[in-house]
Amino acid sequence: MGKSYNPYEIAQEQFDGVAEKLNLDDATRQLLRQPIRENHFLIPVKMDDGSTKVFNGYRIQHNDAKGPAKGGTRFDPLETVDTIRALSMWMTWKCSVVDIPLGGGKGGIVCDPRELSPREQEQLCRGWVRQISQNLGPVTDVPAPDVATNAQHMLWMLDEYEPIHGGRYPGFITGKPVGMGGSLGRTEATGFGVVYVLREALERLNIDIKNTTACIQGCGNVAQYAARLYSELGGKIVSMSSWSHNDKQAFTYRLPEGIDVDSLIDITDTYGCINREMAEKLGLEILPGEAWIEQDVDILIPAALENQITAENAEKISQQVKIIAEAANGPTTPDADEIINQRDIFVIPDFLANAGGVTCSYFEQVQNNMNYYWEKDEVIEKLEIKMTSAFNSVYELAREKDLTMRDAAYVIAVKRVAEAVKSRGWV
Ligand code: GLU
Repeated sequence: MGKSYNPYEIAQEQFDGVAEKLNLDDATRQLLRQPIRENHFLIPVKMDDGSTKVFNGYRIQHNDAKGPAKGGTRFDPLETVDTIRALSMWMTWKCSVVDIPLGGGKGGIVCDPRELSPREQEQLCRGWVRQISQNLGPVTDVPAPDVATNAQHMLWMLDEYEPIHGGRYPGFITGKPVGMGGSLGRTEATGFGVVYVLREALERLNIDIKNTTACIQGCGNVAQYAARLYSELGGKIVSMSSWSHNDKQAFTYRLPEGIDVDSLIDITDTYGCINREMAEKLGLEILPGEAWIEQDVDILIPAALENQITAENAEKISQQVKIIAEAANGPTTPDADEIINQRDIFVIPDFLANAGGVTCSYFEQVQNNMNYYWEKDEVIEKLEIKMTSAFNSVYELAREKDLTMRDAAYVIAVKRVAEAVKSRGWV
């Protein structure tokens, strides 16, 4: 059994390091190293078989000095309150690094959506909103999709929220279906954003994307759109890994000539899982799930969950790897980070790399407020500008002050939030 990592302790350790670099005063450190407000509650749901099940729900607001708390709500059977605390903190830094007027929050329900019928999922979404409705809203805290939640879940949540508050409040939640207040491009945004910053990194390293190969861990929404855009720009995906629900384990799928991304996505279910037998039919080589990290590629894209690159497996990263683009939240532990930094691998840190989703959520809210909706091209163009300019600021600071990309991103993000709490007179 490997060492277990607590994401909240990791998020705090990362913050403490930056607080030291920025020489923050004690009160600001105390205020920013933990969430400002936490809600823990129970959600009873009448199940299809007539029984009642009680689920644990959370909504944690880390900080709202720069604007309403913002961040997804996830379904995960292994969810812990500390994971949500960490994710809420990372949301604050994410919104700050791309400079959008939002704070950080995260929600979750401990459940396995695969074990729930659509009706049970709907009841869970509605129950979650009922328990927390007074503390959510377009100007207080705005949820969105995250692991295993989608546009339909967001719409059920909106539909529960609106009658309680007596009106139409599309800006209460983002990631809604297009036509129901959602923004064009929101589904693609996180994965596309990863590739925009990856493209910038390749340019800085003088590498032509057309000569590169990549391996992606995961096959969910973020992984799929990152894979699509990366291949469209001429990169070759040689390997992708995913959970196989039938086999109850993950596999890495490989094709050295390059995987046809569309045909792989065709056999992926709504939770980002691939059935091994179907992958075999596509002619893909089947390797163990953990083999994704040791592939001989130029680019690794962890796009699944937290704590995937640790001190135990970081040594297995191929000598060929030049860039790690962290599409997931918290995929790399600090002890692995040290190994990666020594190896001089260029890391695009999570809260910068995957900020495209929340950036587009912000655009969605702007459109909701205007009640006027942009064409897709306009959304994508704005997204690209935001992502590349955030990347540039982080890259410049990293070079100027000889910092890692993660430290530079943290310095920029934390500094802005620290200034916000100070100028509001909180500390
Ligand atoms: N769940 C996504 C994230 O981790 C998106 C959050 C949002 O759009 O508010 O960044």
